Amino acid sequence: MISDNLIDVRKRIEAAALRAGRDQGDIKLIAVSKTKPVDMIEECIRAGQYAFGENRVQELVEKIPQLPAELEWHLIGHLQKNKVKYIVGQVELIHSVDTVALAEQIQREAQKKKCDVNILLEVNVAMEETKTGFYVEDVYNACCQIAEFSNVHIKGLMTVAPFVKNPEENRVIFRKLKHLLVDIQSKKVDNVHMTELSMGMTNDYEIAIEEGATMVRVGTALFGARNYAVKK
Ligand SMILES: *Cc1c(COP(=O)(O)O)cnc(C)c1O
Repeated sequence: MISDNLIDVRKRIEAAALRAGRDQGDIKLIAVSKTKPVDMIEECIRAGQYAFGENRVQELVEKIPQLPAELEWHLIGHLQKNKVKYIVGQVELIHSVDTVALAEQIQREAQKKKCDVNILLEVNVAMEETKTGFYVEDVYNACCQIAEFSNVHIKGLMTVAPFVKNPEENRVIFRKLKHLLVDIQSKKVDNVHMTELSMGMTNDYEIAIEEGATMVRVGTALFGARNYAVKK
């Protein structure tokens, strides 16, 4: 049952927050519903969840009109510049801005639509070749450039940690992202107020919370394993 899963995940979030001396109200659970049908999302809503994450633009824009308008949607997957026009104005937060050029495209579209867009900068902390995201040493410069875009607001940083058997191995990754956030905060870039840290998935969200996550993106623990063989 999704409702039981949700209760379990919330309990674990609370326990992890407690261990770290944090307030669980400062941690937002984003239910990652990618590949899962609308009726499963509805079940999750009935259990009290309102923030959902999707990683593909097309799937997201198909699901949004089928569900209550008051939900909060998060784009968590790689965004191509040619898809920006479909997403601006539709989501609460884009977690996966990985180039200045992408932020610039978001700015153009936001200006056109006269709206504001909240983003996170995705950081490839582990420097994995297969992954997108800024390298740690490039984030500050990117921040300064994106700060010039009047309709785009950087709210914080996001990372996708490697898949590891023992989630403890990712603690150092989360700690590095937190350090980077604190470091950039201390440099006080004009127009940038970064406070959010989107980090932690089913395998490692409790550790991410201990290291300062303000948003965790949890899919499998809520909705069960995804079947990519059927749904591409
Ligand atoms: C799929 C996905 C998640 C959720 O992964 P689970 O392991 O199922 O919790 C989180 N973040 C991103 C960016 C994803 O693509």
